[in-house]
Amino acid sequence: MARVLKAQKPHTLKSARPYHAITKASDTVLKENVKTDKKITQYKKFATDSPFPDYNRPSPQECREAHRILVATHGERDPTATNAMNADGMDRPTVFADPLDGLIYGILCQATNERNAIRQIQAMNKEYGSWTNYDAISSDGETKLGDVLSCGGLHVRKAKFIMSILSQVKSRHGIYSLGHLWSLDDELVMEEFLSFNGVGPKTASCVTALTLNRQRFVVDTHIHRITGFLGWRPMHATPEEARAHLEKRIPDDLKYSLHLLFITHGRECSDCKAGSKPTGSCELRKILLGHLRHSATFKTSS
Ligand SMILES: [Zn+2]
Repeated sequence: MARVLKAQKPHTLKSARPYHAITKASDTVLKENVKTDKKITQYKKFATDSPFPDYNRPSPQECREAHRILVATHGERDPTATNAMNADGMDRPTVFADPLDGLIYGILCQATNERNAIRQIQAMNKEYGSWTNYDAISSDGETKLGDVLSCGGLHVRKAKFIMSILSQVKSRHGIYSLGHLWSLDDELVMEEFLSFNGVGPKTASCVTALTLNRQRFVVDTHIHRITGFLGWRPMHATPEEARAHLEKRIPDDLKYSLHLLFITHGRECSDCKAGSKPTGSCELRKILLGHLRHSATFKTSS
């Protein structure tokens, strides 16, 4: 995912009512989706609190030490630098003028690597003139979009979700824009994202953080694995529970950098890669777990 680096573009909405404000009888169809309401209810359980309030790791000191070690190992990840997102040479979008663009990119990134999503963006640019030309995408239909996306995998499913999101956005707001989200607080933003078909808490959180520049700690498969090794969450915590817990524990100013650094570490560290057998060479584990054995501060600070 790329990060938005410029202000919201001007736009006019016929209706700027967010999902949570839709209450008129004529709109009840929008709320009839039981699955959507369940998704939001489930998310709200731990929207602002840790599911493990008595689990007092990581401490702020531990987070800062992890950040120091990861920067020394992998280099700085400056959240304000456009080129930080393109350090791996991929030509990903770096500016999302509208949160809807971020959401569509989030759908393309689901269950695949970003390289495939970027390939799909390029195919959409070629076919529609721009991957955010939602009028053309909608009028050409789902089958066509599926064909265009076939260069990147999961194209049938992604075409279905994108068409469904575009249709819901148009019917709710009268225009292909989610620009009203800029002024809403995080929880209402999450509620609106989760109200769309195909959008779960991970995608919603990721888009909220990276498109709207909110301080959230997104837990992907690398981060879930590494925070388990480090004991930053209970071993049995699901990714969503880990997200809720770590969001409360990690200082705001480290959330985005640590997110990027953990992903790099999870891909590059021979001890922490998926399926690897630890050889004792990982500095992160050596230093952090060493501190833990010798310092009461790391264990008990909150
Ligand atoms: Zn490691």
